[in-house]
Amino acid sequence: MQTDSKILAQEFEYLAPKTLDEALDLLEKYKDKNIKILAGGTDLLVKMKTINLKVNYLMNVKNISELNFVDTEQGLRIGAATPLSHIIKEEKVKVKYSALYEGIMSMAAPAIRNMGTMAGNLGNSSPAADTVPPLIAYGAELKLQSKRGEHTVLVEDLITGVGKTIMKPNELITEIIIPEINKNTGSAFLKKSRVKADLSKINLAIYLEREGNICKDCKIVFGSVAIKVLRAEKTEELLKGQIINSELINKVAEEVSSEIKPIDDIRSTAEYRMAMSKQMLKDGLELAWARAKD
Ligand SMILES: Cc1cc2nc3c(=O)[nH]c(=O)nc-3n(C[C@H](O)[C@H](O)[C@H](O)COP(=O)(O)OP(=O)(O)OC[C@H]3O[C@@H](n4cnc5c(N)ncnc54)[C@H](O)[C@@H]3O)c2cc1C
Repeated sequence: MQTDSKILAQEFEYLAPKTLDEALDLLEKYKDKNIKILAGGTDLLVKMKTINLKVNYLMNVKNISELNFVDTEQGLRIGAATPLSHIIKEEKVKVKYSALYEGIMSMAAPAIRNMGTMAGNLGNSSPAADTVPPLIAYGAELKLQSKRGEHTVLVEDLITGVGKTIMKPNELITEIIIPEINKNTGSAFLKKSRVKADLSKINLAIYLEREGNICKDCKIVFGSVAIKVLRAEKTEELLKGQIINSELINKVAEEVSSEIKPIDDIRSTAEYRMAMSKQMLKDGLELAWARAKD
């Protein structure tokens, strides 16, 4: 049932563990009883209010200090409950991880970035999520923990479809791990949306590594062009090991449309997304290439 309700018109039990151990105990206990993890609530509470998503146990993880940190020593390690606005305050994120910085800065407005988390953006698993393309472009992993142990998975392998992930009901994302990147690399995030503080009609993250005029490695990741965030792997192969010039950039931009499968929906049309993918790829490659210079 679709409603315009601004109230939570359902009963549920609210849980607010203060430690990770306590949270994992609760997830284990209620894993078959429709427990949901609440971080900023900027997706989950909206769904509970507007599409009446049913929840029996709502477990808030925002009070768990072990999940609230940004460690910049080696790459980036970001605790699952860290607000998006704290991540972009880190100088290293701004200077080195441009695509992630730009992705987060493009999201909504400060009020939402103060509440929302990257783990929530991943958990919500929308094809339009703005932190997912940068995370995949950097080869990021996330740590999943349950009472039975922990394991890491590539962000790229987490999401299986709209609102679907490989996470089990007793598992919690505890941190997101982004590898250290070399000096001769560059990245960029581009987004088209109706107004600035809106979800993407289409977005794109590019990461590349250069050696002189050669592209040593690259990742090209589009959002909102398929049922999940998508890597344009054939296009990546056309660039790897090649001398980068405007001729090659124009050529790959012409071919990228064969890799994406956009649809018409409330935010845009397949035709617009197809057309924009070419121009965004050109602009993104030029920007990331220029940033990789020193
Ligand atoms: C006005 C508005 C504008 C928005 N604009 C954008 C935008 O421009 N770009 C964009 O990408 N998004 C946007 N969003 C969506 C939302 O803000 C983001 O997806 C945000 O990152 C969600 O984080 P959260 O902490 O609020 O997640 P929540 O709503 O708390 O949770 C979302 C999902 O993730 C799960 N989850 C949360 N934490 C964990 C965890 N630690 N382990 C496992 N699962 C977990 C929850 O169970 C739930 O299924 C917008 C939302 C609003 C209301």
